[in-house]
Amino acid sequence: MSQNMNITGIHHITALAGDAQKNLDFYTGVLGLRFIKKTVNFDDPGVYHLYYGDDIGSPGSIMTFFPYGGIRRGRHGTGLVNTTTFSVPMDALGYWEKRLDRFDIPRKNAQERLGKEVFIYFEDHDGLGMELVFNDLDERKPYSDGPVPPEYAIRGFYSAEIWASGYERTGALLTGKMDHRLIGESGNRFRFATLDVPGNYIDILVPSSNTTGLSGYGTIHHIAFRSPDTNSQQEIRQSIRQYGLQPTPVIDRQYFKSVYFREPGGVLFEIATDAPGFTVDEAPDKLGSELRLPPHHEFNRKHIESGLPAIAEHSKSYV
Ligand code: ZN
Repeated sequence: MSQNMNITGIHHITALAGDAQKNLDFYTGVLGLRFIKKTVNFDDPGVYHLYYGDDIGSPGSIMTFFPYGGIRRGRHGTGLVNTTTFSVPMDALGYWEKRLDRFDIPRKNAQERLGKEVFIYFEDHDGLGMELVFNDLDERKPYSDGPVPPEYAIRGFYSAEIWASGYERTGALLTGKMDHRLIGESGNRFRFATLDVPGNYIDILVPSSNTTGLSGYGTIHHIAFRSPDTNSQQEIRQSIRQYGLQPTPVIDRQYFKSVYFREPGGVLFEIATDAPGFTVDEAPDKLGSELRLPPHHEFNRKHIESGLPAIAEHSKSYV
């Protein structure tokens, strides 16, 4: 890795969801991710913030949701990340085809892309677009105690797909200020990466119809990129500012420090630090077992708890 990289891949991806229990069942049960943190939206503590990932919620494995009950359904389109792609081993294709069918998850047949990857597209119950890419290039360890046997389990993200009416402006930001390179293109797909390994790919897709994305459940709220530490994060923030964009101040998200800004194509980007991680307020073997609140919401715990729907993990019944 280059010494002076300030961004080293995808950190987490956050989506809007409908029902919290269905969300928990799908991501821990059907997909077999670990429930790593039960907390609230720090900016709106009446709503859960649910985190899923590998054994400890390593950056690059973290999918998170704000399950707002009563909001409208969103619409895929430009200005949004529309597809979140997870990485699984090549041998797991038959297993996942059967598994998705068994749980009645509508899916497309396996397809090939960029001359190198085999993938299946499907959506969760809210309409959130996702894929599994089958590959033998991923060295990461999956969640070791989930309902999916580790030899078939999700390793983390493979890529994320942004839709844009043109790829140039977002592409220029990624390559000019965010340590990415254009590493592949085919038709209307442009692939960028910091390093050419699973977990780092950002695909910009220029769709044939120019439907604008609409935020709502079943859509991605933002994508966060990893930055090694607070110094590298500051450098990126300065550089984004000089570029003419408007990054927020550094915000403490308890499990990482964050800076947000909207990229020229309209997608909300975040730069999140690797540290301190999810074991900062729970032991590794207890992750996700209790509602965790940051200090500035802890005093209000009783009120917050009483406003949240009860949810429980049933992943063992998805074996
Ligand atoms: Zn975030």
